[in-house]
Amino acid sequence: MASASGVDQAYWDAIVVGGGFYGATIAAYLKERRGFHRVALLEREPALMTAASSRNQGRIHAGYHYPRSWTTAARSRANVPRFLREHPGVTNTGVESVYAIARSQSRINARQFVRFCQEIGAPVREAPDEVNALFDVGRIEAAFMVEERVMNLPAFALAVADRLQRSGVAVYLGCTALSTRRSGGGAVSIAIAASSGPELLTARHVFHCTYSETRAAGTRHEIAELAVIAAPSALRRLAITVIDGPFFSVLPHHVEGLHTLSHVRHTPHLTWNEDPEIRPRERLERYAKESRFDRMVRDASKYLPCLRESTHLESIFEVKTVLQQNEVDDGRPILLERSMDVPGCYSILGGKIDNVYDVLDRLDAEPLT
Ligand SMILES: Cc1cc2nc3c(=O)[nH]c(=O)nc-3n(C[C@H](O)[C@H](O)[C@H](O)COP(=O)(O)OP(=O)(O)OC[C@H]3O[C@@H](n4cnc5c(N)ncnc54)[C@H](O)[C@@H]3O)c2cc1C
Repeated sequence: MASASGVDQAYWDAIVVGGGFYGATIAAYLKERRGFHRVALLEREPALMTAASSRNQGRIHAGYHYPRSWTTAARSRANVPRFLREHPGVTNTGVESVYAIARSQSRINARQFVRFCQEIGAPVREAPDEVNALFDVGRIEAAFMVEERVMNLPAFALAVADRLQRSGVAVYLGCTALSTRRSGGGAVSIAIAASSGPELLTARHVFHCTYSETRAAGTRHEIAELAVIAAPSALRRLAITVIDGPFFSVLPHHVEGLHTLSHVRHTPHLTWNEDPEIRPRERLERYAKESRFDRMVRDASKYLPCLRESTHLESIFEVKTVLQQNEVDDGRPILLERSMDVPGCYSILGGKIDNVYDVLDRLDAEPLT
């Protein structure tokens, strides 16, 4: 029973809103692991994986980044093997990851970093001379080789779309979810806008996986800039992160020879707490997007002098959304909210890619009848 838009209007076991990594993974989970027969995924854009899931820095967090949040680090240690097993072939191969500890303004020193890695079971070893030689020794106390991978984002997007197709989830592109409300018999009604006009669908469960558009209280948004740079050849196969404070990361991009540069101070352009009056995507579209690459590279090259030779090619601007509670510890717990007003309706938000498994573990405990 297809409508003018082509969306099947028969009753759905579940409708998932948002075709990023979270929506796609949760839709496939419902179909494959929860035995739901009819699962639909609605995505506003004409393609899957066009927002944060394809416009991020691609770090597959393995715990090293979170010395201030033991739980987040430990969860990443548990989640990463699962992510890599389920998404083979999505990493940039031949990349070596380096974490360097700043001498001043860092909340952790080299000895504490090594102890932290040991506590979370994360392999770490001193960097070889040729890597140490890249840093200004007056500013970097020590550098370490770690086991953390960087994603090839186009390969990741293809793998996610492929898995979704194999799972048998019905995908509707160009379909915007407008509102949900309680319907008869314990169902949820969901109003959508498709190219042919508004329509009403019904489902037993609705999962909102719209990241910056989740509109959950207690979230914080920022317009973030990642500078895409042609880095000097000395950095070619290296992913470098300087911690733990107002520093930077320079990670290989999927295009050979390019990197993305982010800086704790200069990547966030504009930040605001969730406000129902402000639509994050509209704010991003209207934002002037003047690059702060100059500021990023000026500061970062004090620690990694060869960065001065890099060329700025373009910048990626995207809305980044986290929970306000984690401003201090930089942790990345998930948000999984069951709606009180519309039973059967959930809002889901994960601050980084591997957190999706924390969501699935929580959903395992939900009856979802
Ligand atoms: C600049 C930046 C750098 C980051 N770096 C990293 C990193 O290095 N490592 C890491 O693990 N994580 C990183 N993250 C976080 C990571 O990208 C996100 O946690 C993850 O992509 C969230 O996935 P998602 O599917 O929830 O969101 P998205 O990928 O944003 O998907 C949400 C989808 O919902 C759709 N949508 C919204 N509203 C509607 C509607 N009403 N109807 C239908 N569809 C709708 C959108 O079009 C979008 O496709 C970064 C994020 C940013 C922004």
